[in-house]
Amino acid sequence: MAAPGLRPGLGRLFEMPAALGRVRRAYGTSQAFAEVLRLPKKQLTKLVFPLQELERHLVPDSKHEFHLKIFDPSLEDIARAESIFTVTAQNRIEYLSSAERLDHAPALPRPEVCFIGRSNVGKSSLIKALFSLAPDVEVRVSKKPGHTKKMNFFKVGKYFTLVDMPGYGYRAPEDFVDMVETYLKERKNLMRTFLLVDSVVGIQKTDNIAVEMCEEFALPYVMVLTKIDKSSKGHLLKQVLQIQKFVDTKTQGCFPQLFPVRFLLDLPCSAVTYSGIHLLRCFIADITGNLKTHCFQFS
Ligand code: GDP
Repeated sequence: MAAPGLRPGLGRLFEMPAALGRVRRAYGTSQAFAEVLRLPKKQLTKLVFPLQELERHLVPDSKHEFHLKIFDPSLEDIARAESIFTVTAQNRIEYLSSAERLDHAPALPRPEVCFIGRSNVGKSSLIKALFSLAPDVEVRVSKKPGHTKKMNFFKVGKYFTLVDMPGYGYRAPEDFVDMVETYLKERKNLMRTFLLVDSVVGIQKTDNIAVEMCEEFALPYVMVLTKIDKSSKGHLLKQVLQIQKFVDTKTQGCFPQLFPVRFLLDLPCSAVTYSGIHLLRCFIADITGNLKTHCFQFS
């Protein structure tokens, strides 16, 4: 039996150390994730399930407001998703092209996901983190905000395409709305839009432009909270609860569970550089139809 409150996959694995080894071997999982699996339980939870780690600090009355386990993969599922993001001779992960207009976008049959957010929200850093198992993929992270002016298309093997959309807000391209609106409205194979929100400042006025577009076109979208290392636990919890409330009461198409992510810049790249990235990779693999297991719980 899993310890009370532990997700079944995680509980089972901690009770059976041999099972951890099996997960590592069975899916030929990435070296980085194998390192994560060797971490002590508390550290592993913090890295892989950051929302669950935050929940520990909530008063019991607020716990029902946290949608923790709607997407509830096991560590085995996460390990399988890691292999989709790992570059090999058979699994090419590469930048394809950039486009300023939808009719210049590559015609690709695979499912597509796109990432959108205010300039400086941490979008390039997040995409770089998602592609950290394919280090040759060039995702430019700028020192100045407003770097991404075009839609950048990345191919992830035979599995899906990832699109980095231009940043909005400060120094957004003049034709941002035309470019992005047309893409969101008309791209047939777009499976999910990931809307990045800076967890330090929460949802800003300019973010409403993106929220309204997703709602108007009835797109399924997900909020990713960036830079969760930058605030105190108290401030972060307050922001998470506010954003959660916004999603619950003001949106129709937004997935109720938030995905917090963190990227520690001053650490050399290692298993502990990223939080929330493994879960997000697994979510993307699942919603693009590449995981073939059922990681969603609806009560
Ligand atoms: P973009 O304009 O949305 O592509 O944002 P960038 O990825 O270029 O990030 C903007 C700034 O935020 C850069 O200085 C990044 O180093 C920093 N940044 C991004 N993600 C994180 C994070 O998770 N934690 C911290 N502390 N800084 C971050």
